[in-house]
Amino acid sequence: MRKIVVIYDDAFLKHAPPRYHCESPARVRSIVEHLKELGLLDKLLVKPRQASVEDLYLVHDKNYVDIVMRLLEKGTHTYIDGDTYISPGTRDAALTAVGAVMTGVDLLLSGEAQCFFAPVRPPGHHAGVAGRALTAPTQGFCIFNNIAIGAEYALRRGAKKVAIVDIDAHHGNGTQEIFYTTDKVLYISLHQDPLTLYPGTGFIHEVGEGAGEGFNVNIPMPPGSCDDVYIQALEEIVMPILEQYRPDIVLVSLGFDAHTNDPLTGLDITLHTYEALFLMLKRGLEKGLFRGVGYVLEGGYDTGVLAKGSEILVKIMLGEDYSVGEKETESPQAIQQKARRVLKEVREVQSRYWNLK
Ligand SMILES: [Zn+2]
Repeated sequence: MRKIVVIYDDAFLKHAPPRYHCESPARVRSIVEHLKELGLLDKLLVKPRQASVEDLYLVHDKNYVDIVMRLLEKGTHTYIDGDTYISPGTRDAALTAVGAVMTGVDLLLSGEAQCFFAPVRPPGHHAGVAGRALTAPTQGFCIFNNIAIGAEYALRRGAKKVAIVDIDAHHGNGTQEIFYTTDKVLYISLHQDPLTLYPGTGFIHEVGEGAGEGFNVNIPMPPGSCDDVYIQALEEIVMPILEQYRPDIVLVSLGFDAHTNDPLTGLDITLHTYEALFLMLKRGLEKGLFRGVGYVLEGGYDTGVLAKGSEILVKIMLGEDYSVGEKETESPQAIQQKARRVLKEVREVQSRYWNLK
């Protein structure tokens, strides 16, 4: 069994904005070039397959898919909304991004790999059933929900339960919407307080509905939150819930935009928080809590952070030495108090469904 594979195709570079846009090919290029320089890419590379249009129907409304596919087939520069562009290469990029997650899920479920990292674009977690999700003003650079399709695909392939952990600074409103009424997919998101950041959803009381009640966990962190409180949230809430849920596989919406260097967001965590998540899930694998973990790139707009964060993930999974290269941050007292109040409230609300100390 391979410890980690990197699922990548140059098709991800073909989604390219007509003029300056922070969600650009340079993001993924910085990751693959860095892994190549370290001599890690060639031996870990797996080529993804391309998803079919039918695969998109796994989570998206047929009408939405058909409208978007018509735009993609046309292959000209256009905008779905003020944030979200389409370019001549977007069709290939978007279908390969979905296909990459499906390829990864296959490798996890067959036991060929313990972990995959799919540095895909366009990102996906803001895309809901019919595009714009919940009350968000736009689709936030997302066209199809790569990770949600991967999770639903895993269920069709025989997985009984899938957990999605979303560490992107923005709430994954699309993913929450898609799985809000099911207990087969547990969605846990850590993100910046929705009152201060797009998409304006992801509050503590949004816990799921019907069969899905108790299977949606939002942890909205105040702006300025540092590694101390973020790592506390991972250890005291995320991991205990995962241990009790016992999913077949864990998929991670890996956005690097919670990092303090990120130009779009206001959190102050470093790669130490990401390291803590990678180590935590690796220990989960070693303890046999789940069979596989798949990391799917979402946001993250500082290319240095994207490159270094990806290196840390790959080296942790390979068991190689690495250095984080940054100093762990500690929240100023006022923010620490605010964050601890948030964690306390999440524990209170989620204690109805999970055993949380
Ligand atoms: Zn984001």
